[in-house]
Amino acid sequence: MAVKPYDPENIFAKILRGDIPCNKIFEDEHVLAFHDIAPQAPTHILVIPKGAYTSYDDFAQNASDAEIIAYTRAIGKIAAAAGVAEDGYRLIANTREHGRQDVPHLHIHIIGGKKLGLMLP
Ligand code: ADP
Repeated sequence: MAVKPYDPENIFAKILRGDIPCNKIFEDEHVLAFHDIAPQAPTHILVIPKGAYTSYDDFAQNASDAEIIAYTRAIGKIAAAAGVAEDGYRLIANTREHGRQDVPHLHIHIIGGKKLGLMLP
């Protein structure tokens, strides 16, 4: 499947522009984090880069070193601030069609706050 260009009308682009609200947890120059609207566990946070990256592989290939460092470090800090770092948590980056990615702006889910079930394909 061909990789689609970035769609500026995706819901996370709208959140970044302030067109629709989010329940914000953290923001800096490169990163925004907010609570998932349909949490799958007691803690369910989405962390997104501010840059227009469709998916994890787009980000990994095309983001600057500064963006990658800021994003990676922010995820760890946000998990710790949310109180899930000690007992552990799961990071998920659903990627494109086979990965069941619904929103075409890179987002990493931080899911925790309880012992999670095993992941099955
Ligand atoms: P999936 O829906 O299969 O988990 P994604 O990895 O693309 O696919 O996840 C999109 C996530 O975005 C979902 O967990 C969904 O609940 C969440 N979401 C959708 N719209 C909003 C919104 N306006 N604010 C916060 N979270 C949202």
